[in-house]
Amino acid sequence: MHQVDASLNAVMVRKSQMSHRYLVQFNPKHTPHLFTDILVIGAGIAGLRAALEIPGQLDVLVVTKDSIQQSNSAYAQGGIAGVLSPEDRFENHIEDTIQAGGGLCHRDVVELVVREAPEQITELIRWGTHFDEEDGHLALTREGGHSHRRIVHALGDATGFEVMRAIIERAKQTPNITLWGDTFTLDLLTCEGRCVGAAVWRVGQGLLLIWAKQTILASGGAGMVYRETTNPPVATGDGMAAAYRAGAELRDMEFMQFHPTVLYVAGSSRFLISEAVRGEGAYLRDRNGVRFMPEIDPRAELAPRDVVAQAIVRRMEETRHPNVYLDLSHLDKALVNRRFPGIAKVCKSFGLDITRDLIPIRPGAHYMVGGVTVDAQGRTTLPGLWAAGEVTSSGLHGANRLASNSLLEGLVFGTACGKGAAASAAALPDTLTALPLSSKFAPETEGALDVADITNSLRSVMVRYMGVTRDQSGLKQVEQDVAFWCRYVLAREFHDRPGWELQNLLTIARLMIHSALVREESRGVHFRSDFPQRDDAAWQRHVVAPALP
Ligand SMILES: Cc1cc2nc3c(=O)[nH]c(=O)nc-3n(C[C@H](O)[C@H](O)[C@H](O)COP(=O)(O)OP(=O)(O)OC[C@H]3O[C@@H](n4cnc5c(N)ncnc54)[C@H](O)[C@@H]3O)c2cc1C
Repeated sequence: MHQVDASLNAVMVRKSQMSHRYLVQFNPKHTPHLFTDILVIGAGIAGLRAALEIPGQLDVLVVTKDSIQQSNSAYAQGGIAGVLSPEDRFENHIEDTIQAGGGLCHRDVVELVVREAPEQITELIRWGTHFDEEDGHLALTREGGHSHRRIVHALGDATGFEVMRAIIERAKQTPNITLWGDTFTLDLLTCEGRCVGAAVWRVGQGLLLIWAKQTILASGGAGMVYRETTNPPVATGDGMAAAYRAGAELRDMEFMQFHPTVLYVAGSSRFLISEAVRGEGAYLRDRNGVRFMPEIDPRAELAPRDVVAQAIVRRMEETRHPNVYLDLSHLDKALVNRRFPGIAKVCKSFGLDITRDLIPIRPGAHYMVGGVTVDAQGRTTLPGLWAAGEVTSSGLHGANRLASNSLLEGLVFGTACGKGAAASAAALPDTLTALPLSSKFAPETEGALDVADITNSLRSVMVRYMGVTRDQSGLKQVEQDVAFWCRYVLAREFHDRPGWELQNLLTIARLMIHSALVREESRGVHFRSDFPQRDDAAWQRHVVAPALP
């Protein structure tokens, strides 16, 4: 297995017109300030796990832009992977992760995460998480790309809800942690090449400058850049865009993982049908009732997500049908209802009985594999800034994330960031002062903009040209569209969340498209129909986003 060193193998994508350094103007003399030892941005699994690792003598402020309950973590269904069965071995989980990662995983990071999994799961249990059990033992399921049953789950198919319930409760009971909802992080503050906190907008209070000895970014993914996504509305890539504006390195932005099986019913939200459904034996069938996966991959429906998503799109094209179907009708009805109560309930609301009817599905944007570059301790390239979870590119997932490895990544890297940031903060003098920063720029303000219209247009062209299958002409088209919107959207100053989110989505879309154009091969979740082969000689390397001009 070839190990990739980002610094040696980086390829720079070309520079492009970008936004101002800060989204809004502020003058520290006229802005309220707040001081904390550690600032954590994001209250999903990675952010709260980081906060819980910080010793009691340090003050931790966790900010999140919505309610504490709103995060991708809370919507996770399938579970958390870990070697817990006597028939399984760490080596199996390591090899499965590397196999799925398409030659871009960092073996040292994979080993670290896999070996820490059982202890992290045990800790969640100590903190009050109730995982499902069978005969007095943890119930373990299997998902695509896993060679063994090793995924713990809770409430059948609502693992994230149960895990986050326990973690949020624990964070609320921890005296040195303060949790702020409805606090939108606009930008990271930097001074003399260091991150020194963040500019936030708090509902009811307005603009605030939070100065922190160390900052941990755990703001999650960017699924909302696509019209069809499993992600909740908070996933607009704000943290990635803010880190980018602050000068931290981002990489591998072409790798957006599409979940193969997202409910496709007019009028429904794009609800995820967990991979565990295929893990329990469900089949994929096309509009003619043909089960098509066995002829494509020996693992059939349990092939990794990139293989299954690409096979579904091809089948949809061949049969000229907007979706394919999941079939559970041959499975034990009692097992299906017990394992998937949430999925059964949602499907029932559209008149579908999952034990009998075919479920219409198609792929949807699910997980951002690329992001802010971090080392094995969660350090970014910007001193003073740490990062964990979906916002990062840690080297764990390579070019394609193995199912149920991301909650685990949030736990392991959250812990590492908490430890690292705490040690660094403790080594700094106890006083913090406001620094003479300024974010003056001349915004273009002429004419009203229909932010929702541009956001919807962006999300549509991303599905069309930056979806499961890409080619140069489509990528050039979407590059042009996005560049045009950037010209007049990024030059403005907005005063509300939809405007800031649109600016961040455009920034992220632009980086994704550039990286997809640069990578002239197919690997993992990045499939170029004009370069359908994997090309290790030229492309077993990361694509690093260009520095802000
Ligand atoms: C439907 C679904 C099912 C999934 N199932 C699984 C599964 O079974 N197993 C698995 O391992 N993974 C699963 N995943 C992926 C996994 O849930 C995520 O990758 C993981 O939870 C990310 O955790 P995180 O802490 O990095 O980010 P999140 O959990 O997304 O947390 C991000 C936090 O940052 C906050 N935030 C964002 N922007 C700002 C801002 N500007 N200012 C302040 N706060 C901000 C958000 O509000 C949120 O609190 C699933 C994902 C989805 C969407």
